[in-house]
Amino acid sequence: MIQVVWFKRDLRTTDHRPLAEAAAAGPVLPLYVVEPAYWQLADTSTRQWLVLRAALTELSGRLAALGAPLIVRIGSVTQVLAKIHAAVGIGRLLAHEETGNLWTYGRDIAVRKMCLSLGIPLVEFSQTGVIRGASARDRWAAHYVRFMSLPAVPEPPRLELVPAAKVADIPTAGMLGLADDGWIPEGSGERSGTRESGLKLLESFLGGRGADYRRGMSSPVSGATCCSRLSVSLATGTVSVREVLQRVYAVRQQLAAMPAPQRPVPVTAVQSLIARLHWRGHFMQKLESEPELERRAFHPLHEAARLSTPPDDPKLVAWATGRTGIPFLDACVRSLIATGWLNFRMRAMVQSFASYHLGLDWRVSGEKLAQLFSDYEPGIHWPQVQMQSGQTGINTPRIYNPVKQGMDQDPEGVFTRRWVPELAVVPLSVLQTPWSAVDAELGGYPQPIVDVAAAARAARARLTAVRQTDGYREAALEVFRKHGSRGRRLEQDRQKIASEESQQLILPL
Ligand SMILES: Cc1cc2nc3c(=O)[nH]c(=O)nc-3n(C[C@H](O)[C@H](O)[C@H](O)COP(=O)(O)OP(=O)(O)OC[C@H]3O[C@@H](n4cnc5c(N)ncnc54)[C@H](O)[C@@H]3O)c2cc1C
Repeated sequence: MIQVVWFKRDLRTTDHRPLAEAAAAGPVLPLYVVEPAYWQLADTSTRQWLVLRAALTELSGRLAALGAPLIVRIGSVTQVLAKIHAAVGIGRLLAHEETGNLWTYGRDIAVRKMCLSLGIPLVEFSQTGVIRGASARDRWAAHYVRFMSLPAVPEPPRLELVPAAKVADIPTAGMLGLADDGWIPEGSGERSGTRESGLKLLESFLGGRGADYRRGMSSPVSGATCCSRLSVSLATGTVSVREVLQRVYAVRQQLAAMPAPQRPVPVTAVQSLIARLHWRGHFMQKLESEPELERRAFHPLHEAARLSTPPDDPKLVAWATGRTGIPFLDACVRSLIATGWLNFRMRAMVQSFASYHLGLDWRVSGEKLAQLFSDYEPGIHWPQVQMQSGQTGINTPRIYNPVKQGMDQDPEGVFTRRWVPELAVVPLSVLQTPWSAVDAELGGYPQPIVDVAAAARAARARLTAVRQTDGYREAALEVFRKHGSRGRRLEQDRQKIASEESQQLILPL
């Protein structure tokens, strides 16, 4: 009987417990199933497939070097597994738990049922530190920190081949019916999302690239260089978050022992990176605990007040194509369309503008953003989309002003002019508000589709009306019980929510 190791968002051979356990027990069939139905979903895209394909190619080479190449099949996972079982008999199916989207959640349930009915033992292991099906957050942080402190699992020295397994080519985007979506992978020609590029990015960040991380991360100009850029390799799982954290903890210790002028990056930069890697688990736990949050608002009264947006809504189309007439916002969206990446603050601004100023359904705009992200990670994405749209009831709503953000984060106008070349000749003093100086459309650049200040006021009024509805606070406390951070004491947080309830904490950032 053979053992099948089913790869998902964990395309690596190191810190891969299912592979290590299988290798220690006997012949291994490493399997990846390309699921055409998944690639038709509205939150998936060609760029995500291209990233994954590069990671699969790299994994296949590594597995072949260990003795058992990756077996790639196209179809539904249940059908593929049933066929393998009928042909050679699966003794054990080993895999990592995955916090994916609702579709993969349903698929995993179907696989579990099938294993039960065919009598195949299914062994699943945690990999991101989240707790499967956790219903509340008490003691979560302690669990997470303990998991991340356990030694990473070494790569198996060799794999015993299953002789009957036939290797097949990894399909191209065209074979999956995925059209070119305008993505131009950036940089040095590294294959984005591979283990090789992830490890290089980590070392270059720790070796000096991250020196200005804390100051530079808020701007899309400096952020592109001084942020870690690990998100793509973490999303494909070519590098595990535990490997990254353990390397970063070790470097923090080395830096602390060095005289400050000799440190390639300040200790504070490394601490900020650690905090963000911890947030990763914190956010992913939300979707792990409630997969329906991909479609339903955290807070039931925000769900009840949900706005509906048809896919051809002209505001949605203008926003998603970078043609709102708000220069910095359009520059951010256009750069995202081309590169597949945007820094955190600008992601938050783009999402907040869609939900607040344009009054679009967060679910629809969130899908558009997911498609554009080469690092799409459902467990981070959907809770962040909701948070930046004021849907949680437990976070301070933030309505970003894209004009002010443009002036703050792109003071020389370099980024705005690069991505909105129609404004190349507009003086810097009115670059972020060209409508204030020029009446006609500039080189085809549109007039703004909303008045930024008036749209923010209307959004604030909508939000306040929901927050003043009877029962809002009680429902927010329930959201907090399930999903709120326990960084501070529970009772203090509860009091904070109660006091936020009575204030207008909507910051014009
Ligand atoms: C609306 C919205 C949607 C987002 N969708 C995604 C997504 O699909 N995939 C994704 O990886 N990130 C997402 N983020 C979080 C964040 O913007 C990206 O992780 C980050 O910009 C990636 O660049 P980096 O790897 O250089 O990040 P760094 O700043 O170097 O951070 C290192 C790592 O920490 C984690 N991280 C950083 N910021 C956050 C955060 N706020 N919440 C949770 N984890 C974080 C990521 O894994 C990241 O790779 C989203 C943020 C917003 C506001």
